[in-house]
Amino acid sequence: MQNKQRAALLILTLVLSPVASAQLTQQRLDSTIRVDNTNQTRREAVRIIDNIWWVGHSAVGAILITSSEGHILIDTTSTELAPWTVESIVNAGFELDDIRYLLNTHTHEEHMGGMPMFRKLLPHAILLASKESADVMATGGKTDFRYIVERDETDLFEPFVVDGLIRHGDEIRVGDISIVAHLTPGHTEGTTTWTTTVSEDGRDYDVVIFGGMSASGAYRVPLIGNEFYPEIAEDFVRSFEYLRTLKCDVYLYPRAATIELDKKLKKRGESGNRGNPFVDPEGCQHYIDFYEKRFLKQLNEEKAD
Ligand SMILES: [Zn+2]
Repeated sequence: MQNKQRAALLILTLVLSPVASAQLTQQRLDSTIRVDNTNQTRREAVRIIDNIWWVGHSAVGAILITSSEGHILIDTTSTELAPWTVESIVNAGFELDDIRYLLNTHTHEEHMGGMPMFRKLLPHAILLASKESADVMATGGKTDFRYIVERDETDLFEPFVVDGLIRHGDEIRVGDISIVAHLTPGHTEGTTTWTTTVSEDGRDYDVVIFGGMSASGAYRVPLIGNEFYPEIAEDFVRSFEYLRTLKCDVYLYPRAATIELDKKLKKRGESGNRGNPFVDPEGCQHYIDFYEKRFLKQLNEEKAD
């Protein structure tokens, strides 16, 4: 075999084989980020600030933004655990029928596998997603590169079709809610970050609901030579740069551990009414720093391989 052919075959093997990928990136495994479906428990809805609620279970949540004229739900949690999301919304006193829009952060099963169930429960609600997310939704996750690389069948979900597409900068309004979509690809090709403004104790706060900033997968998908998402590294670089331009007082992500949900709730309980720990502009910048550093570390390691 000629050297060129051998090199091409080697690259192909590295990209295609989950085993090789796992060996290459074993050290990058961060067990706290991977979902453990066996240890999740119900959780009552948590009011984060003003009209923004965390609804879902102990590990993964959906974000409910409420108004007197209707609500917006971002994400649903997984196929299996979405009934707990429904339960937490209803137990908090909200009417499911008042949800006007179903949106999402990104097309990973643990975050939006429950969308088909919500579609059936709420036939009147409008489901919008980025073009890239809508494409993955339509295949039940089969075209998501994390699935293509890792072939983990639990990443698949019931396919569904959206009502419309959202583009970068689109604004959705319900009553006095105004929420803006920002396309921040990298974690998935269609990852969407959402921003809104809330008021509490006479002050306005900018809220950023991040769409995901880590290289996907238990073993972190390759950033270089990723045949299924060739522009992944460039997208991440652009997304990090862009995320830094967003005003951010309160940062959210639909995974409890990554936004220190329980730690902040405990702090709020201890401090009584003095301040809201979710107002954390410094934490927001650290949050972006953390993922950007991890991305650069992986990129440099892959360059060195
Ligand atoms: Zn994800």
